[in-house]
Amino acid sequence: MTADPGDTPHVRQLLGAYVLDALEADESGTVARHLQQCGACAAAYVEIMDAASLLALINVDDLLE
Ligand SMILES: [Zn+2]
Repeated sequence: MTADPGDTPHVRQLLGAYVLDALEADESGTVARHLQQCGACAAAYVEIMDAASLLALINVDDLLE
């Protein structure tokens, strides 16, 4: 268990759905606000965005092979 910096819960569990635009509007807003305040979650968000774009490329290539 890790302590939160302040009283804002981390949003890493929501980042995958956030990247895929699969969150409810209020959840998406919560994630967006948290990313502006939390460098750790913002870094995780960038990693997930990179992974999502790589997966998109891999899926296209696999389908064409
Ligand atoms: Zn965080």
